Amino acid sequence: MSKKRLVTAWLDGCSGCHMSLLDMDERLLELAPHIHVLASPLVDAKQYPDEIDIAVVEGAVGSVADLKKIKTIRERTRILVSLGDCAVTANVPAMRNPLGPKAVLQCAYLEHADLHQQVPQHAPALLPRARPIHEVVPVDVFVPGCPPSAD
Ligand code: SF4
Repeated sequence: MSKKRLVTAWLDGCSGCHMSLLDMDERLLELAPHIHVLASPLVDAKQYPDEIDIAVVEGAVGSVADLKKIKTIRERTRILVSLGDCAVTANVPAMRNPLGPKAVLQCAYLEHADLHQQVPQHAPALLPRARPIHEVVPVDVFVPGCPPSAD
């Protein structure tokens, strides 16, 4: 049987879900003969690959860059896994939704900054709301939890 082509990706999340993946510890060694990890925050891949069997995605869709990334992933992937509560419900990133992006950026970069009070020119362009992945593209598997347990 050929190895499954796997990617993991990170949208608007804290990386705790990826830490949970790593917490699978020796079970990752059991998986290793069956998967080929082509892209992930855990590996150094410069380009997003084609013809993915499984994509495991952490985080909500909170920025223009997130939106572009998840659409690319969906187009190139057979099974899309929404990993963790931020991906499944928008969870923590959605706490900003009642305020709107402008108020959030002002709070972070102006009101709570001691020095250089300005919104960085290259700050990610936020969408009006942080959204769960399935509101944006179809999802095949949901794995809730904050973070989901390694088990
Ligand atoms: Fe972090 Fe929890 Fe969101 Fe995972 S679900 S990215 S652990 S806040």
